[in-house]
Amino acid sequence: MMKNKGIAESQIKWKINSGNSSFWWDDWLGEGPLASYCTHVTSLNTTKISQFLVGGTWNETMVRQWVPPLLVPKILSFPIHYQEQIPDEAIWKLTVDGLFSCSSAWEIIRHKGTKSIINKGIWHRHLPFKISFLAWRALRNKLPTNEKITSFGKEAARCSCCYRTGEDNIDHIFVSGHFANNIWSFASAAAGIQHHYIPINMLLLRWWRHEHKSEVQNLLNQLLPVIIIWNLWKNRCAAKYGAKHPVQLESNF
Ligand SMILES: [Zn+2]
Repeated sequence: MMKNKGIAESQIKWKINSGNSSFWWDDWLGEGPLASYCTHVTSLNTTKISQFLVGGTWNETMVRQWVPPLLVPKILSFPIHYQEQIPDEAIWKLTVDGLFSCSSAWEIIRHKGTKSIINKGIWHRHLPFKISFLAWRALRNKLPTNEKITSFGKEAARCSCCYRTGEDNIDHIFVSGHFANNIWSFASAAAGIQHHYIPINMLLLRWWRHEHKSEVQNLLNQLLPVIIIWNLWKNRCAAKYGAKHPVQLESNF
């Protein structure tokens, strides 16, 4: 039930009118509930968006006081269409007019299908639990990346793959970073799969849907990208916390 709710919510964008939505618990910003970024917000918190507004626009002082610094610019640039009597509106991202339609419902089902393909792929029976679990956390942005850590107000540490500050987020560690990109290019070439930058979930789908000539090849296409994700994380942590040189892929799986 909660899972389906999450899927539906990812298809909704919010139009803030009177600000009657829950500031902490509705996913109006599109980053998940803001409460999940804070330790001071309980599930009983009923603060509404309107309480963070003044004169129909954001109360910047209050936003800065309560919200992790990383999210502040995004919130302050989130448009408010202030109309006192009009409740906030949920807009379907999938239709041009933002109204629910049969085709948008179909899109959601399709989207759900994609999600379940990804879940099925990650939790492959030939993969050890720790590898599946790591990939599952990566796809839900539930790993302690620098980006996550700074959202709690800590200072950005340098990235372990290219030694730049603050670049260490899920996308950088697993796909777009210099090191990750090299690994994917190399593995893709070996598997006969074209590689250019796409988000991590699309990248997995591309591998899993790649045509295969044998079952062995198919199995490799299913398992390898998840194992690469595991190794990229292991490598990143070894480079960050251990003495290991970062540009050296571990493959002791
Ligand atoms: Zn980097």
